[in-house]
Amino acid sequence: MVEKRRKHVPLRSCIACQKKRPKRELIRVVRTPEGTIEVDLKGKRAGRGAYLCPDLRCWDEGLQPRRLGHALKCQVSAEELVGVRAWLSLLSDEKRDELATWGQKVAQADRHDGDGIEMDS
Ligand SMILES: [Zn+2]
Repeated sequence: MVEKRRKHVPLRSCIACQKKRPKRELIRVVRTPEGTIEVDLKGKRAGRGAYLCPDLRCWDEGLQPRRLGHALKCQVSAEELVGVRAWLSLLSDEKRDELATWGQKVAQADRHDGDGIEMDS
């Protein structure tokens, strides 16, 4: 018997595609106690979070006022979404590429057994 004893991996669903993934593979968007909406790369900010795959298609779909508002249980204005989207544009092209291919890598890994995804961050 091959037994891999690992720490329990918390799963979260992407708010766009609804797929469940280990929390650390997803990008967290958080509604901070101050009421701002931010991208929380470390996953440690206080506040209610919503999770998105590191896949630009999920970002497109997930960053809609109703969708994100439902996930964060608050009203999300179009202006706030612009702020979140701006975060994406702050990424360098290289980083954005990485984000796009990372999503593909995750999708490919899913076709096998979801194991062996390498992330260098
Ligand atoms: Zn997704």
